Amino acid sequence: MSASLLEAAATGDLDTIKSQTKALKDRNERGWTALHFAARYGQLEVATYLRDQAPDLLAVVNNEGKTPAQLAQFWGYDQVAQLLTPATNDDKQQQQQQQPAAGASGPVALAQQVNHVNFFAGSPLNRYGWYRTNNDKLNQLVKASNARFILLNKLDPLFDQDNKLYFAPYDQVAGLIGEFSDDTTTEDSLRPRLIFLGVDEQQHKDDSKAAGAASEGIPYWALDVSAAKQETNPFHSSLQQLHQDFEKNQLDFSPALPLAFQLNKDTAAILAQARSMMDWHTRNKFCPACGGAVVSKEAGHKLHCSSSDCISQKGVHNFAYPRTDAVVIVCIVHPTEDKILLGRQKQWPARMFSCIAGFVEAGESIEEAVRREALEETGVHVDHVSYHSTQPWPFPNSLMFGFLASATSTTIKMEDKELESARWFSRSEVLGALKGDGGVFTMPPKLAIAHQLVHAWATNATVRQNAKM
Ligand SMILES: [Zn+2]
Repeated sequence: MSASLLEAAATGDLDTIKSQTKALKDRNERGWTALHFAARYGQLEVATYLRDQAPDLLAVVNNEGKTPAQLAQFWGYDQVAQLLTPATNDDKQQQQQQQPAAGASGPVALAQQVNHVNFFAGSPLNRYGWYRTNNDKLNQLVKASNARFILLNKLDPLFDQDNKLYFAPYDQVAGLIGEFSDDTTTEDSLRPRLIFLGVDEQQHKDDSKAAGAASEGIPYWALDVSAAKQETNPFHSSLQQLHQDFEKNQLDFSPALPLAFQLNKDTAAILAQARSMMDWHTRNKFCPACGGAVVSKEAGHKLHCSSSDCISQKGVHNFAYPRTDAVVIVCIVHPTEDKILLGRQKQWPARMFSCIAGFVEAGESIEEAVRREALEETGVHVDHVSYHSTQPWPFPNSLMFGFLASATSTTIKMEDKELESARWFSRSEVLGALKGDGGVFTMPPKLAIAHQLVHAWATNATVRQNAKM
């Protein structure tokens, strides 16, 4: 049994694996093969090599009954999971049609890979934007027997005893919703905010056949159940009763973070949308032009001033839309290509370093924002900026644009004092931190895009090649 082969598979060391081709099918005492290790640690390059050299490994189960593909799926390495899942005939045909030209490499090969999907993205919902103006349809979806309501109290979602997100059925919240109508007037402004999130068409198709169920799939809604302040509020007693029921059933409102990290990816993505939309409603109760009350339109996706003589009634600015703030986050690669630059903020856990990040400013392209933030925070100049992936960070409304960028200078000077420290880390130090070896530094968890950017640089030769072009 070759420990170094398995170690090489876990760390993405393809050269070592190629030097031990006779041992490719070896297994350790837990029944793990090199392909299990490559899958567990998301090593795409190694997994591709092993799959091609020893296709038998795809079906090998370890002592826990898991195939390599199942391990990759479990640990969130979708691209590796897809690579290792045996294709059906239909898939094979489709893949042949989409094959990149022989010998494709560099940016071409990268463009033809599946885009990386970060945590909080990849929602299973069809948002059905065209239903948002169809009151009859919305009424059906709100009252559907399979509808699910995410309940938020002062922006905190409701969880059960096992920290699973709680979904209320319509009957439980009917008193707060009544007849769905988008023709909301100011008299209705006290009604708890209700937002249509979309329909999960993939899951639970059987549920959709039940009596009164929406034929499209499972409709998801977000509903604000924050306690009403005054007893004169017509919803005061319904809300009070609801909160008593939650207490009786040991359901608790808790901040979305960190509990969202324990949810499965699909549920976390739906919660992220719900939490972000409700945050927007909570912070935007009055018209920014005249201070009049705003009303919710299009199932919660637009806000409109209720005052007819408000300046916002004229021109194209007569509605307010949910806001998304662009943030750039970048893994800066040393001119010698064997190190990356990471920084740390004072309030972070001890020894944790991460990628450089900051908000995009007005009148600035995203690439320019990357270069400016690198210079302001670290004094390092970067030129080529290479896109990797994005991650919604809806707490409350950021969208992180993730890049790798090539440095053209190496001297560190923390101009804007946003960072406590910044330094260059070698690839072996980075691989150690990704594995959590307790070495020189630690990384943010793998659910964070910073981790994914650094992981991509450390383990994927194609990503490294694209970063320098
Ligand atoms: Zn107004």
